[in-house]
Amino acid sequence: MTDKGQHLDLSSGDEFSSAQQAGSSAAAGQFLGVHFQCCDVYVRVYPNAERTAYQGNCPRCARPVKFLIGEEGTCARFFSAR
Ligand SMILES: [Zn+2]
Repeated sequence: MTDKGQHLDLSSGDEFSSAQQAGSSAAAGQFLGVHFQCCDVYVRVYPNAERTAYQGNCPRCARPVKFLIGEEGTCARFFSAR
C-alpha cells in the first residue's frame, strides 16, 4: 500500500511538469488580482507570453501595470496599483 502511494505520487508529479512545459493551457488559470486605485476598479491581470511579468491595463483610464515574475513576490496574488 505504501509502494502504491509512492508510485502514484511520482507519476502525477511527472504528468504535471510535462503539462506545464507542453502548452499554454496550463497557465490559463494563472492570474493576478489587481486593484487600480486610480479608478477604484478591480481586474485580473495575466502573464505575458514569456511569463516574465504580469501585464495589464486599467479598464477605465488605460493606465498600464506590470508585475515582474521572479524569485521575489510570486507568492502574492493580489496587488494595488496607484
Ligand atoms: Zn484608472
